[in-house]
Amino acid sequence: MSKKDTPRFDRRRFLQASAALAAGGAATPAAAAPEARQQPAKPTILGHLSRPADLPKAKGPRVVVVGGGWSGLTLAKYLKRFNPAFDVLLLDRKDQFVSCPISNVWMADQVDLEFLTHSYVDAARNNDYLFLNATAIGLDRDRRMLATTLGLIAYDYLVLAPGIDYDYSRIGVEDPDDAYRLRMHYPAGFNSASEIMAIKHKLQDFGGGTLLLTVPAGNYRCMAAPYERACMAAAIMKKRGIQGKVLLLDMNPDIRIKTDGFKKAFEQYYGDIIQYEPSAEISAVDIENKAVETDFDSYAFDDAVIYPPVRAARIIEEFGLADPASAQFEAAIDPFKYNLLDDERVYVTGDSRSQPFSKSGNTAHSEARYVAEVIAAHAQGKEIPWRSPQTMCFSGVRIDPLESMSIIAFYSYDENEKTFEFDRVHLMEKWNATAGQAGLAWAEGLYRDMFYA
Ligand SMILES: Cc1cc2nc3c(=O)[nH]c(=O)nc-3n(C[C@H](O)[C@H](O)[C@H](O)COP(=O)(O)OP(=O)(O)OC[C@H]3O[C@@H](n4cnc5c(N)ncnc54)[C@H](O)[C@@H]3O)c2cc1C
Repeated sequence: MSKKDTPRFDRRRFLQASAALAAGGAATPAAAAPEARQQPAKPTILGHLSRPADLPKAKGPRVVVVGGGWSGLTLAKYLKRFNPAFDVLLLDRKDQFVSCPISNVWMADQVDLEFLTHSYVDAARNNDYLFLNATAIGLDRDRRMLATTLGLIAYDYLVLAPGIDYDYSRIGVEDPDDAYRLRMHYPAGFNSASEIMAIKHKLQDFGGGTLLLTVPAGNYRCMAAPYERACMAAAIMKKRGIQGKVLLLDMNPDIRIKTDGFKKAFEQYYGDIIQYEPSAEISAVDIENKAVETDFDSYAFDDAVIYPPVRAARIIEEFGLADPASAQFEAAIDPFKYNLLDDERVYVTGDSRSQPFSKSGNTAHSEARYVAEVIAAHAQGKEIPWRSPQTMCFSGVRIDPLESMSIIAFYSYDENEKTFEFDRVHLMEKWNATAGQAGLAWAEGLYRDMFYA
Protein backbone atom coordinates (compact mmCIF):
# COMPACT_ATOMS: atom_id res chain seq x y z
CA MET A 1 0.00 0.00 0.00
CA SER A 2 1.41 3.41 -0.92
CA LYS A 3 1.76 6.34 1.44
CA LYS A 4 -1.18 8.03 -0.31
CA ASP A 5 -3.48 5.12 0.55
CA THR A 6 -2.81 5.43 4.28
CA PRO A 7 -6.19 5.53 6.11
CA ARG A 8 -7.14 9.00 7.19
CA PHE A 9 -9.29 10.17 10.04
CA ASP A 10 -11.33 13.39 9.78
CA ARG A 11 -9.08 15.57 7.61
CA ARG A 12 -10.70 18.96 8.43
CA ARG A 13 -10.30 18.39 12.16
CA PHE A 14 -6.80 17.14 11.56
CA LEU A 15 -5.82 20.36 9.76
CA GLN A 16 -7.30 22.46 12.56
CA ALA A 17 -5.46 20.43 15.16
CA SER A 18 -2.22 20.53 13.16
CA ALA A 19 -2.45 24.32 13.07
CA ALA A 20 -3.03 24.35 16.82
CA LEU A 21 0.02 22.13 17.37
CA ALA A 22 2.14 24.34 15.10
CA ALA A 23 1.09 27.30 17.24
CA GLY A 24 2.56 25.56 20.29
CA GLY A 25 -0.53 23.75 21.50
CA ALA A 26 -2.23 26.99 22.57
CA ALA A 27 -5.62 25.63 21.58
CA THR A 28 -5.82 23.05 24.37
CA PRO A 29 -8.99 23.33 26.49
CA ALA A 30 -6.84 24.06 29.55
CA ALA A 31 -5.61 27.27 27.89
CA ALA A 32 -9.10 28.47 26.84
CA ALA A 33 -10.62 31.62 28.41
CA PRO A 34 -13.11 31.08 31.30
CA GLU A 35 -15.98 32.57 29.17
CA ALA A 36 -15.27 30.02 26.45
CA ARG A 37 -15.51 27.25 29.08
CA GLN A 38 -18.93 28.51 30.13
CA GLN A 39 -20.31 28.02 26.61
CA PRO A 40 -18.78 24.76 25.45
CA ALA A 41 -19.24 23.71 21.87
CA LYS A 42 -21.68 20.86 21.43
CA PRO A 43 -19.53 17.75 21.84
CA THR A 44 -19.23 15.39 18.90
CA ILE A 45 -18.72 11.71 19.35
CA LEU A 46 -15.06 11.83 18.28
CA GLY A 47 -14.40 15.50 19.07
CA HIS A 48 -11.88 14.94 21.84
CA LEU A 49 -9.76 12.73 19.60
CA SER A 50 -8.95 15.49 17.14
CA ARG A 51 -7.44 18.01 19.53
CA PRO A 52 -3.77 17.94 20.54
CA ALA A 53 -3.02 15.63 23.46
CA ASP A 54 -2.27 17.41 26.73
CA LEU A 55 1.50 17.02 26.91
CA PRO A 56 4.44 19.18 27.92
CA LYS A 57 5.70 21.18 24.93
CA ALA A 58 8.42 19.26 23.07
CA LYS A 59 11.89 20.51 24.02
CA GLY A 60 13.64 18.88 21.07
CA PRO A 61 12.84 16.57 18.15
CA ARG A 62 9.96 14.47 19.42
CA VAL A 63 10.32 10.70 19.12
CA VAL A 64 7.08 8.87 19.84
CA VAL A 65 7.29 5.18 20.73
CA VAL A 66 4.03 3.20 20.54
CA GLY A 67 4.01 0.16 22.82
CA GLY A 68 5.65 -0.14 26.25
CA GLY A 69 6.72 -3.76 25.96
CA TRP A 70 10.28 -5.08 25.91
CA SER A 71 11.02 -3.27 22.68
CA GLY A 72 9.34 0.11 23.37
CA LEU A 73 10.61 0.45 26.95
CA THR A 74 14.18 -0.20 25.82
CA LEU A 75 13.88 2.16 22.87
CA ALA A 76 12.51 4.99 25.01
CA LYS A 77 15.42 4.69 27.46
CA TYR A 78 18.21 4.39 24.91
CA LEU A 79 16.87 7.01 22.46
CA LYS A 80 17.29 9.50 25.28
CA ARG A 81 20.72 8.07 26.18
CA PHE A 82 22.04 8.19 22.64
CA ASN A 83 20.60 11.65 21.92
CA PRO A 84 19.72 13.63 25.08
CA ALA A 85 18.24 16.35 22.83
CA PHE A 86 15.40 14.03 21.81
CA ASP A 87 12.06 14.61 23.49
CA VAL A 88 10.96 10.98 23.93
CA LEU A 89 7.35 9.96 24.54
CA LEU A 90 6.37 6.35 25.30
CA LEU A 91 2.74 5.40 24.81
CA ASP A 92 0.96 2.28 26.06
CA ARG A 93 -2.70 1.33 26.32
CA LYS A 94 -1.95 -0.42 29.63
CA ASP A 95 -1.07 1.49 32.79
CA GLN A 96 1.37 -1.05 34.18
CA PHE A 97 3.78 -3.62 32.80
CA VAL A 98 3.30 -7.33 33.53
CA SER A 99 6.01 -9.52 32.05
CA CYS A 100 5.15 -12.43 29.74
CA PRO A 101 8.60 -14.01 30.19
CA ILE A 102 8.69 -15.89 33.53
CA SER A 103 4.86 -16.01 33.59
CA ASN A 104 4.86 -19.79 33.01
CA VAL A 105 6.94 -20.37 36.14
CA TRP A 106 4.80 -17.81 38.00
CA MET A 107 1.79 -20.05 37.18
CA ALA A 108 3.62 -22.83 39.05
CA ASP A 109 4.31 -20.50 42.01
CA GLN A 110 8.07 -20.26 41.48
CA VAL A 111 8.01 -16.41 41.68
CA ASP A 112 5.36 -13.99 42.90
CA LEU A 113 3.35 -11.48 40.85
CA GLU A 114 5.45 -8.57 42.10
CA PHE A 115 8.44 -10.07 40.29
CA LEU A 116 6.59 -9.66 36.97
CA THR A 117 4.90 -6.30 37.58
CA HIS A 118 6.56 -2.92 37.01
CA SER A 119 5.64 0.75 36.83
CA TYR A 120 5.72 2.86 33.66
CA VAL A 121 5.91 5.96 35.84
CA ASP A 122 9.16 4.66 37.41
CA ALA A 123 10.58 3.85 33.98
CA ALA A 124 9.78 7.29 32.54
CA ARG A 125 10.95 9.25 35.58
CA ASN A 126 14.16 7.27 36.03
CA ASN A 127 15.08 7.57 32.37
CA ASP A 128 13.97 11.13 31.62
CA TYR A 129 11.21 10.52 29.08
CA LEU A 130 7.43 11.03 29.03
CA PHE A 131 4.88 8.24 29.45
CA LEU A 132 1.29 8.52 28.26
CA ASN A 133 -1.32 5.87 29.09
CA ALA A 134 -3.20 5.99 25.77
CA THR A 135 -3.95 3.90 22.70
CA ALA A 136 -2.66 4.82 19.24
CA ILE A 137 -5.59 4.79 16.82
CA GLY A 138 -4.57 6.56 13.62
CA LEU A 139 -1.57 7.75 11.65
CA ASP A 140 -1.10 10.55 9.11
CA ARG A 141 2.42 10.15 7.80
CA ASP A 142 2.14 13.18 5.48
CA ARG A 143 1.75 15.42 8.52
CA ARG A 144 3.76 13.25 10.92
CA MET A 145 0.83 13.05 13.25
CA LEU A 146 -0.32 10.18 15.46
CA ALA A 147 -3.92 10.03 16.67
CA THR A 148 -4.44 8.58 20.14
CA THR A 149 -7.35 8.15 22.53
CA LEU A 150 -6.02 11.23 24.36
CA GLY A 151 -5.64 13.41 21.27
CA LEU A 152 -3.17 14.11 18.47
CA ILE A 153 0.60 13.94 18.85
CA ALA A 154 3.05 15.41 16.33
CA TYR A 155 6.28 13.47 15.87
CA ASP A 156 9.67 13.86 14.26
CA TYR A 157 10.30 10.12 14.49
CA LEU A 158 7.76 7.40 15.22
CA VAL A 159 8.57 3.87 16.42
CA LEU A 160 5.80 1.28 16.32
CA ALA A 161 6.49 -1.53 18.80
CA PRO A 162 2.96 -2.87 19.42
CA GLY A 163 3.76 -6.59 19.62
CA ILE A 164 1.41 -9.26 18.24
CA ASP A 165 -2.24 -10.17 17.87
CA TYR A 166 -3.75 -13.63 17.50
CA ASP A 167 -4.94 -14.90 14.12
CA TYR A 168 -7.79 -17.32 14.92
CA SER A 169 -8.68 -17.63 11.22
CA ARG A 170 -5.60 -19.84 10.82
CA ILE A 171 -7.19 -22.51 13.01
CA GLY A 172 -10.46 -22.31 11.10
CA VAL A 173 -12.21 -19.85 13.43
CA GLU A 174 -13.43 -17.08 11.11
CA ASP A 175 -16.53 -15.82 12.95
CA PRO A 176 -15.57 -12.93 15.30
CA ASP A 177 -18.13 -14.18 17.85
CA ASP A 178 -16.42 -17.58 17.96
CA ALA A 179 -12.95 -16.01 18.15
CA TYR A 180 -14.15 -13.89 21.07
CA ARG A 181 -15.62 -16.89 22.91
CA LEU A 182 -12.48 -18.89 22.30
CA ARG A 183 -10.37 -16.09 23.68
CA MET A 184 -12.56 -15.80 26.78
CA HIS A 185 -13.01 -19.50 27.53
CA TYR A 186 -9.67 -20.88 26.35
CA PRO A 187 -7.26 -17.92 26.33
CA ALA A 188 -3.83 -18.32 24.75
CA GLY A 189 -1.94 -16.33 27.39
CA PHE A 190 0.62 -14.91 25.01
CA ASN A 191 -0.47 -11.31 24.86
CA SER A 192 -2.14 -10.08 28.02
CA ALA A 193 -1.77 -10.28 31.78
CA SER A 194 -5.48 -11.02 32.22
CA GLU A 195 -5.20 -14.08 30.01
CA ILE A 196 -2.12 -15.27 31.86
CA MET A 197 -3.93 -14.90 35.19
CA ALA A 198 -6.97 -16.78 33.85
CA ILE A 199 -4.68 -19.65 32.82
CA LYS A 200 -3.05 -19.76 36.25
CA HIS A 201 -6.53 -20.09 37.78
CA LYS A 202 -7.38 -22.87 35.34
CA LEU A 203 -4.20 -24.79 36.23
CA GLN A 204 -4.71 -24.34 39.96
CA ASP A 205 -8.41 -25.39 39.73
CA PHE A 206 -8.19 -28.19 37.14
CA GLY A 207 -10.14 -31.15 38.48
CA GLY A 208 -8.87 -33.91 36.16
CA GLY A 209 -9.40 -35.26 32.65
CA THR A 210 -7.78 -33.80 29.55
CA LEU A 211 -6.18 -30.39 29.57
CA LEU A 212 -5.49 -29.39 25.95
CA LEU A 213 -2.58 -27.06 25.09
CA THR A 214 -1.66 -26.08 21.53
CA VAL A 215 1.49 -24.91 19.73
CA PRO A 216 0.88 -22.69 16.70
CA ALA A 217 2.54 -22.83 13.27
CA GLY A 218 4.50 -19.95 11.75
CA ASN A 219 6.80 -17.53 13.56
CA TYR A 220 4.89 -17.36 16.82
CA ARG A 221 5.80 -15.55 20.05
CA CYS A 222 8.40 -17.33 22.17
CA MET A 223 9.13 -20.60 20.45
CA ALA A 224 9.94 -22.52 23.66
CA ALA A 225 7.13 -21.18 25.84
CA PRO A 226 4.28 -23.57 24.83
CA TYR A 227 6.52 -26.58 25.62
CA GLU A 228 7.64 -24.97 28.88
CA ARG A 229 3.98 -24.36 29.74
CA ALA A 230 3.22 -28.07 29.16
CA CYS A 231 5.99 -28.96 31.66
CA MET A 232 4.65 -26.43 34.19
CA ALA A 233 1.04 -27.63 33.77
CA ALA A 234 2.14 -31.26 34.25
CA ALA A 235 4.28 -30.32 37.28
CA ILE A 236 1.29 -28.54 38.87
CA MET A 237 -0.97 -31.56 38.24
CA LYS A 238 1.64 -33.86 39.75
CA LYS A 239 2.04 -31.64 42.81
CA ARG A 240 -1.73 -31.39 43.31
CA GLY A 241 -2.18 -35.14 42.77
CA ILE A 242 -4.65 -34.56 39.93
CA GLN A 243 -5.52 -37.55 37.72
CA GLY A 244 -5.39 -36.38 34.14
CA LYS A 245 -3.27 -35.61 31.12
CA VAL A 246 -1.84 -32.64 29.28
CA LEU A 247 -2.60 -33.13 25.59
CA LEU A 248 -0.08 -31.00 23.67
CA LEU A 249 -1.22 -30.57 20.05
CA ASP A 250 1.64 -29.15 17.99
CA MET A 251 0.85 -27.71 14.54
CA ASN A 252 4.56 -28.25 13.71
CA PRO A 253 6.16 -31.56 12.69
CA ASP A 254 8.41 -31.56 15.77
CA ILE A 255 9.26 -29.58 18.90
CA ARG A 256 10.55 -26.29 17.49
CA ILE A 257 13.44 -25.56 19.86
CA LYS A 258 15.41 -27.32 22.63
CA THR A 259 13.93 -30.41 20.97
CA ASP A 260 15.99 -33.11 22.66
CA GLY A 261 15.71 -31.44 26.06
CA PHE A 262 11.92 -31.12 25.99
CA LYS A 263 11.48 -34.67 24.63
CA LYS A 264 13.65 -36.02 27.41
CA ALA A 265 11.83 -33.97 30.07
CA PHE A 266 8.41 -35.09 28.78
CA GLU A 267 9.52 -38.74 29.01
CA GLN A 268 11.56 -38.61 32.19
CA TYR A 269 9.17 -36.68 34.45
CA TYR A 270 5.80 -36.44 32.80
CA GLY A 271 5.55 -39.67 30.76
CA ASP A 272 2.23 -40.55 32.37
CA ILE A 273 0.87 -36.98 32.04
CA ILE A 274 2.03 -35.30 28.78
CA GLN A 275 0.72 -36.71 25.50
CA TYR A 276 2.62 -34.97 22.69
CA GLU A 277 1.01 -34.97 19.21
CA PRO A 278 3.10 -33.37 16.41
CA SER A 279 1.82 -32.30 12.93
CA ALA A 280 -1.61 -31.57 14.41
CA GLU A 281 -2.83 -29.04 11.83
CA ILE A 282 -5.85 -27.60 13.66
CA SER A 283 -8.69 -26.88 11.25
CA ALA A 284 -11.63 -26.18 13.58
CA VAL A 285 -12.56 -25.76 17.23
CA ASP A 286 -15.96 -26.90 18.52
CA ILE A 287 -16.36 -24.64 21.53
CA GLU A 288 -19.75 -26.04 22.64
CA ASN A 289 -18.69 -29.68 22.56
CA LYS A 290 -15.11 -29.04 23.72
CA ALA A 291 -13.31 -30.62 20.79
CA VAL A 292 -10.54 -29.65 18.38
CA GLU A 293 -10.47 -30.94 14.81
CA THR A 294 -7.28 -31.61 12.88
CA ASP A 295 -7.03 -32.81 9.28
CA PHE A 296 -7.09 -36.43 10.50
CA ASP A 297 -8.49 -36.55 14.02
CA SER A 298 -10.80 -35.06 16.58
CA TYR A 299 -9.57 -34.45 20.14
CA ALA A 300 -11.96 -33.97 23.05
CA PHE A 301 -10.90 -31.93 26.08
CA ASP A 302 -12.15 -30.95 29.53
CA ASP A 303 -10.33 -27.65 29.62
CA ALA A 304 -7.97 -25.93 27.21
CA VAL A 305 -5.40 -23.22 26.55
CA ILE A 306 -5.57 -22.57 22.80
CA TYR A 307 -2.66 -20.65 21.30
CA PRO A 308 -3.45 -19.80 17.65
CA PRO A 309 -0.90 -18.54 15.08
CA VAL A 310 0.04 -14.89 15.48
CA ARG A 311 0.27 -11.81 13.28
CA ALA A 312 1.80 -8.37 13.69
CA ALA A 313 -0.35 -6.24 16.00
CA ARG A 314 -3.48 -5.06 14.26
CA ILE A 315 -2.50 -1.37 14.13
CA ILE A 316 0.18 -2.21 11.56
CA GLU A 317 -2.61 -3.17 9.16
CA GLU A 318 -5.02 -0.47 10.37
CA PHE A 319 -2.39 2.21 9.73
CA GLY A 320 -2.08 0.94 6.14
CA LEU A 321 1.42 -0.44 6.69
CA ALA A 322 0.94 -4.21 6.28
CA ASP A 323 2.84 -5.66 3.36
CA PRO A 324 0.29 -7.49 1.14
CA ALA A 325 2.91 -10.22 0.63
CA SER A 326 3.21 -10.90 4.38
CA ALA A 327 1.17 -13.83 5.73
CA GLN A 328 1.55 -12.38 9.24
CA PHE A 329 0.53 -8.80 8.20
CA GLU A 330 3.97 -7.37 8.90
CA ALA A 331 5.16 -4.05 7.49
CA ALA A 332 7.70 -3.77 4.68
CA ILE A 333 10.73 -2.41 6.53
CA ASP A 334 14.43 -2.10 5.80
CA PRO A 335 15.72 -5.35 7.39
CA PHE A 336 18.86 -3.64 8.70
CA LYS A 337 17.57 -0.20 9.72
CA TYR A 338 13.93 -1.04 10.61
CA ASN A 339 12.36 2.05 8.95
CA LEU A 340 9.44 1.66 6.53
CA LEU A 341 10.81 1.25 3.02
CA ASP A 342 9.08 4.48 1.93
CA ASP A 343 9.53 6.50 5.15
CA GLU A 344 12.73 7.14 7.11
CA ARG A 345 10.76 8.68 9.98
CA VAL A 346 8.70 5.60 10.89
CA TYR A 347 10.23 2.41 12.35
CA VAL A 348 8.74 -0.98 13.29
CA THR A 349 10.44 -3.09 15.98
CA GLY A 350 9.93 -5.97 18.43
CA ASP A 351 7.54 -8.83 17.68
CA SER A 352 5.84 -6.71 14.95
CA ARG A 353 9.00 -6.61 12.84
CA SER A 354 9.09 -8.51 9.54
CA GLN A 355 12.51 -10.14 9.95
CA PRO A 356 12.26 -13.83 10.90
CA PHE A 357 14.03 -13.36 14.25
CA SER A 358 12.71 -15.19 17.28
CA LYS A 359 9.77 -13.28 18.74
CA SER A 360 11.22 -13.00 22.19
CA GLY A 361 11.89 -10.42 24.89
CA ASN A 362 15.67 -10.60 24.78
CA THR A 363 15.63 -10.29 20.98
CA ALA A 364 13.34 -7.25 21.28
CA HIS A 365 15.52 -5.69 23.98
CA SER A 366 18.89 -6.10 22.24
CA GLU A 367 17.40 -5.02 18.91
CA ALA A 368 15.83 -1.91 20.49
CA ARG A 369 19.18 -0.67 21.80
CA TYR A 370 20.53 -0.96 18.27
CA VAL A 371 17.51 0.77 16.66
CA ALA A 372 17.75 3.62 19.19
CA GLU A 373 21.31 4.11 17.98
CA VAL A 374 20.16 3.96 14.32
CA ILE A 375 17.60 6.72 14.93
CA ALA A 376 20.02 8.89 16.92
CA ALA A 377 22.53 8.56 14.08
CA HIS A 378 19.89 9.37 11.45
CA ALA A 379 19.05 12.61 13.26
CA GLN A 380 22.73 13.57 12.88
CA GLY A 381 22.85 12.56 9.20
CA LYS A 382 24.93 9.47 10.04
CA GLU A 383 24.61 5.69 9.75
CA ILE A 384 25.86 2.89 11.99
CA PRO A 385 26.83 -0.67 10.97
CA TRP A 386 24.22 -3.42 11.39
CA ARG A 387 24.35 -5.42 14.60
CA SER A 388 22.57 -8.72 15.18
CA PRO A 389 19.95 -8.95 17.90
CA GLN A 390 20.59 -11.57 20.56
CA THR A 391 18.06 -14.24 21.48
CA MET A 392 18.28 -15.65 24.99
CA CYS A 393 15.62 -17.90 26.41
CA PHE A 394 15.38 -19.94 29.62
CA SER A 395 12.74 -22.69 29.88
CA GLY A 396 11.53 -24.16 33.15
CA VAL A 397 11.27 -27.95 33.16
CA ARG A 398 10.78 -28.88 36.84
CA ILE A 399 9.69 -27.00 39.95
CA ASP A 400 10.53 -26.82 43.68
CA PRO A 401 13.28 -25.91 43.02
CA LEU A 402 12.92 -24.48 39.51
CA GLU A 403 15.15 -26.29 37.00
CA SER A 404 15.64 -24.79 33.55
CA MET A 405 17.52 -25.15 30.27
CA SER A 406 18.55 -22.33 27.94
CA ILE A 407 19.56 -21.11 24.51
CA ILE A 408 21.56 -18.08 23.39
CA ALA A 409 21.82 -17.24 19.68
CA PHE A 410 22.68 -14.47 17.23
CA TYR A 411 21.75 -14.05 13.54
CA SER A 412 23.63 -13.65 10.28
CA TYR A 413 22.35 -12.53 6.89
CA ASP A 414 22.44 -15.02 4.04
CA GLU A 415 23.13 -12.96 0.91
CA ASN A 416 22.04 -15.78 -1.44
CA GLU A 417 18.75 -16.55 0.27
CA LYS A 418 18.20 -12.89 1.23
CA THR A 419 17.16 -13.83 4.71
CA PHE A 420 18.51 -14.22 8.22
CA GLU A 421 19.53 -17.46 9.90
CA PHE A 422 20.70 -18.49 13.36
CA ASP A 423 24.38 -17.89 14.04
CA ARG A 424 26.56 -18.81 17.06
CA VAL A 425 23.92 -20.91 18.82
CA HIS A 426 24.70 -21.94 22.41
CA LEU A 427 22.20 -24.57 23.42
CA MET A 428 22.11 -25.91 26.98
CA GLU A 429 19.54 -28.71 27.05
CA LYS A 430 20.65 -30.11 30.40
CA TRP A 431 18.38 -28.53 32.95
CA ASN A 432 19.38 -27.83 36.52
CA ALA A 433 18.59 -25.54 39.44
CA THR A 434 21.53 -23.22 38.63
CA ALA A 435 20.01 -22.50 35.21
CA GLY A 436 16.64 -22.08 36.95
CA GLN A 437 18.11 -19.27 39.08
CA ALA A 438 20.06 -17.89 36.09
CA GLY A 439 16.77 -17.50 34.19
CA LEU A 440 15.28 -15.47 37.01
CA ALA A 441 18.46 -13.38 37.26
CA TRP A 442 18.31 -12.77 33.49
CA ALA A 443 14.76 -11.42 33.77
CA GLU A 444 15.59 -9.32 36.82
CA GLY A 445 18.56 -7.79 35.01
CA LEU A 446 16.40 -6.76 32.06
CA TYR A 447 13.61 -5.37 34.26
CA ARG A 448 16.29 -3.29 36.00
CA ASP A 449 17.59 -2.07 32.68
CA MET A 450 14.13 -1.10 31.39
CA PHE A 451 12.71 0.43 34.59
CA TYR A 452 15.73 1.95 36.35
CA ALA A 453 18.41 4.40 35.22
C1 LIG B 1 4.42 -17.22 28.39
C2 LIG B 1 5.52 -16.46 27.70
C3 LIG B 1 6.85 -16.76 27.99
C4 LIG B 1 7.87 -16.06 27.36
N1 LIG B 1 9.16 -16.35 27.68
C5 LIG B 1 10.17 -15.64 27.13
C6 LIG B 1 11.52 -15.89 27.53
O1 LIG B 1 11.84 -16.75 28.35
N2 LIG B 1 12.51 -15.15 26.96
C7 LIG B 1 12.23 -14.17 26.05
O2 LIG B 1 13.18 -13.50 25.59
N3 LIG B 1 10.95 -13.93 25.65
C8 LIG B 1 9.91 -14.62 26.15
N4 LIG B 1 8.61 -14.37 25.77
C9 LIG B 1 8.34 -13.46 24.64
C10 LIG B 1 8.26 -11.98 24.99
O3 LIG B 1 7.28 -11.75 25.95
C11 LIG B 1 7.91 -11.16 23.76
O4 LIG B 1 8.70 -11.56 22.68
C12 LIG B 1 8.15 -9.69 24.03
O5 LIG B 1 7.16 -9.27 24.95
C13 LIG B 1 8.06 -8.87 22.76
O6 LIG B 1 8.22 -7.50 23.07
P1 LIG B 1 7.44 -6.39 22.23
O7 LIG B 1 7.83 -5.10 22.86
O8 LIG B 1 7.64 -6.56 20.79
O9 LIG B 1 5.90 -6.69 22.48
P2 LIG B 1 5.07 -6.56 23.88
O10 LIG B 1 5.96 -6.88 25.01
O11 LIG B 1 3.82 -7.36 23.68
O12 LIG B 1 4.70 -5.04 23.94
C14 LIG B 1 3.78 -4.45 23.05
C15 LIG B 1 3.09 -3.32 23.80
O13 LIG B 1 2.36 -2.52 22.88
C16 LIG B 1 1.18 -2.10 23.49
N5 LIG B 1 0.25 -1.71 22.43
C17 LIG B 1 -0.22 -2.48 21.41
N6 LIG B 1 -1.02 -1.76 20.60
C18 LIG B 1 -1.04 -0.50 21.12
C19 LIG B 1 -1.69 0.69 20.73
N7 LIG B 1 -2.47 0.74 19.63
N8 LIG B 1 -1.51 1.79 21.47
C20 LIG B 1 -0.75 1.74 22.61
N9 LIG B 1 -0.11 0.64 23.03
C21 LIG B 1 -0.25 -0.47 22.28
C22 LIG B 1 0.74 -3.31 24.31
O14 LIG B 1 -0.12 -2.92 25.34
C23 LIG B 1 2.08 -3.84 24.81
O15 LIG B 1 2.42 -3.33 26.09
C24 LIG B 1 7.56 -15.05 26.41
C25 LIG B 1 6.23 -14.75 26.14
C26 LIG B 1 5.21 -15.45 26.78
C27 LIG B 1 3.79 -15.09 26.48
